Amino acid sequence: MQLQARSNALTYPHGSMLRLAPAAEKRLKRHMRLLCAQQKPGTEITKTLNEEFGLNWSLQAYFQRAQRWDFSWSATPRAGRRLTPAEVLPEDQRSACYEDPAFEARMGITDRVVCRECFSVLRDGAMDGKDGHLRTMHGLTRKKYRLRNPGAPLFTHKRIADQTLVDVQKLMAERAEEYADPAEFAAARSDPKYDDSLSFVICRVQRCGFKATSGLPKHLQNVHGVSGKEAVEAYRREYGWPPIFSQRVRKLGSARNSKRWAKLKVRAAQAHEKRSRGRKGELLGDTAARITMVAYRMLQVCSKRRIAAELYPLHTPEVAWGTAKNTIFRRHAKEIRQEMNRLTGLPESARLAAFKAAKSGISGSWIRRVA
Ligand SMILES: [Zn+2]
Ligand SMILES: [Zn+2]
Repeated sequence: MQLQARSNALTYPHGSMLRLAPAAEKRLKRHMRLLCAQQKPGTEITKTLNEEFGLNWSLQAYFQRAQRWDFSWSATPRAGRRLTPAEVLPEDQRSACYEDPAFEARMGITDRVVCRECFSVLRDGAMDGKDGHLRTMHGLTRKKYRLRNPGAPLFTHKRIADQTLVDVQKLMAERAEEYADPAEFAAARSDPKYDDSLSFVICRVQRCGFKATSGLPKHLQNVHGVSGKEAVEAYRREYGWPPIFSQRVRKLGSARNSKRWAKLKVRAAQAHEKRSRGRKGELLGDTAARITMVAYRMLQVCSKRRIAAELYPLHTPEVAWGTAKNTIFRRHAKEIRQEMNRLTGLPESARLAAFKAAKSGISGSWIRRVA
């Protein structure tokens, strides 16, 4: 077994990552998934797999794989090799940290941030940038990290306090206030009505808990990439239809709405009226007729401006040109070409008849006839 594994384990540099032969890589992946699921520390995984596959890979090589395959990775506690030269958060605090974007603030940590991917405790500035922890250790951009770990800080509170001339304790208190603490978050996730009568709404997205004082849509879009009516609906459905606007905003809205509703009704009626007039023949079908006209005239090599004037007989030539340019010529170029092909295939007399029929069918001529 050992020997066979060794022969499989012909490692060769490929990109920056060491690779095995495909079959061995597959076996390695299977075994590693198991070890990661059992939450074995990184050093142990390294040792076990190196022995089994006859390798001498570094912990870093396995760590990269865990990231790539999206396996959970347990950093090695105290003794043994450390994941980074930095400290690592004690094991019993990791889940609290992972679940809470305001972990540092709640713990009163002013001058460190914790990486939510590996729980390294980092100095200010160590996280971000070209040689930063995110890029070198996890191959993540700032944006990707933020999407994977909504709301997790990149910079220390001390730095933000210094830059904004705010007292750091006050800043941390505010930050902690901004996110539901674990108990409140759990309550909100299990009860869609939890924040019905509170002055804020809580974001139910896993590991978030942001409290929005007016509404969540902006937050959902900026932080979780949830945008558009359907996506927001899907969010609400998932959590049993919690509110996305705070009580205050909803109240304001309903007072305004009753007035707005009346206005909207009038407007909708007007729009409907307009559309049904179109149905009687004034507007609909015009486009098809105009396409035929354009095609016919283009076969005669008329200028587009002249064609436009003919298409919109009620407009001044300038307005007709502007309209034609933005509608028929731009939106229906393909249909015009098809119609030209169709007309070319017709005998001369049929072609002329088609043109005349189209011309008498457009709205300008219709209105003229009625008048
Ligand atoms: Zn990390
Ligand atoms: Zn959120």
